[in-house]
Amino acid sequence: MSAGTVYLVGAGPGDPGLLTVRAAELIARADVILHDRLIPAEALAGARPDAEVLYVGKQGGGRQVPQQETHRLLVEHAHAGRTVVRLKGGDPFVFGRGGEEALACLEAGIPFEVVPGITAGVAVPAYAGIPVTHRELASGVAFVTGHEDPAKPDPALDWPALAAFPGTLVFYMGVRSLPRIAEHLVAGGRPADEPVAVVERGTLPGQRTLLATLSDVAERAAAERMRAPAITLVGPVAELRERLAWLERRPLHGRTIAVTRARPQASALAARLRELGADVVEAPAIRTRSLEAELPDLAAYDLVCVSSPNGAAELFARLASAGLDARALAGRTVAAIGPGTARALKEGGIVADVVPERAVAEGLVEALAGVDVRRALVVRAREGRDVLPDALRERGAEVDVLALYETVAEPLDEPTARAARAADYVTFTSASTVRYFLDAAGGLDGPRIASIGPATSAALRDAGLEPHVEAEPHTPDGLVAALVADAR
Ligand code: SAH
Repeated sequence: MSAGTVYLVGAGPGDPGLLTVRAAELIARADVILHDRLIPAEALAGARPDAEVLYVGKQGGGRQVPQQETHRLLVEHAHAGRTVVRLKGGDPFVFGRGGEEALACLEAGIPFEVVPGITAGVAVPAYAGIPVTHRELASGVAFVTGHEDPAKPDPALDWPALAAFPGTLVFYMGVRSLPRIAEHLVAGGRPADEPVAVVERGTLPGQRTLLATLSDVAERAAAERMRAPAITLVGPVAELRERLAWLERRPLHGRTIAVTRARPQASALAARLRELGADVVEAPAIRTRSLEAELPDLAAYDLVCVSSPNGAAELFARLASAGLDARALAGRTVAAIGPGTARALKEGGIVADVVPERAVAEGLVEALAGVDVRRALVVRAREGRDVLPDALRERGAEVDVLALYETVAEPLDEPTARAARAADYVTFTSASTVRYFLDAAGGLDGPRIASIGPATSAALRDAGLEPHVEAEPHTPDGLVAALVADAR
């Protein structure tokens, strides 16, 4: 059997968005992934479900895997013909021992490739608003290892030469060696008032930056309890942060927001909130389950109302399994409860005729006031409200309700429930998220409560909770806008 290839892949500094396209592609293909601790947690989400994922980290207090053991695993898996991804934080060749692993492959006759990653020394300062080079301030940058253990000074570091280096110094590791670093640099002739930035957990939620000078950085970093992983940057460019800090300016920066909606819908809302700087706790309290239901002859109705995006998806799925498509709705008036449902209908090839301004059942009733209806079909969840069918019947229409799915509780593990209870905001996007989240989390006391609209707010009040924020319009976008306004 021919040996598989070993890919030495950089995973970037932590923000999953900073993974390269090539890294994501290889992660999705790998038979085996050997990874460090400092990789984005989300990076492994794209791995094949049957991929073997092994932790071989060395940093931190957890299990320490000796480098020789990592070499042995790389060679062994590749010899067995597997595609091996060796996934490392940042860039594999910058303080990542990637060079040693490449040499181990070479010696064993294993083909290898290197996929560079975005190194922390560049990305972390950038997220803190610090360019590592800048015209007139720094025409060079040096990447230096500070070492985690201050008791083991590195004789390889030529401090006088580093002090004399005409440019920015970026120290990896070594947040505990700050006193030694500052002392050596000042002794070597760097001005005591030279700016220093220490950035902890750069590019991750909870990134913290300390801006100090060589004379006080050790003391202030200790007082602020700056911890690994951190980058220390020495040079006049650090001061640009005062003007260029951008991360902290995002409207939801520093806010933790729990999202309780079902997982498939949660990710879009979570992504939007993260983009605005929020730290998102995904705590899905519900999921939907398809119901057995006979699809009636749609031609018998003059109006078909769809009351959720999931209802639309279910409807198209049923049509498809009956060998039908969007043409089954030809000639019917199709009404969507809101823009999200209208979008889901559009994905199936149907442009809704009626979409109310207010995305609630009452809004749809109003929007249908001018529409002549004899027979209507309402496609919805089993537990949906009867506002719409009742109103249509009152107007003399014959109404059938077609429940294509039901909403059930999604179990919430204790760490997630705890994180949600400790959040700044908990968002609710339906009455069922209220009910099931409160059941699973055992109540809510502390976070501000954000509701997507009146039906959800009513469910909150029934549970004895007054929403602090109610979206207007009653859509996920409206909810995001209301959170931004409240967080100001
Ligand atoms: N190969 C990696 C570096 C590995 S050494 C790279 O190219 O980035 C580990 C050190 O990198 C940490 O001790 C810390 O100094 C730095 N580091 C990695 N991720 C970091 C992050 N998110 N924030 C701050 N420093 C980070």
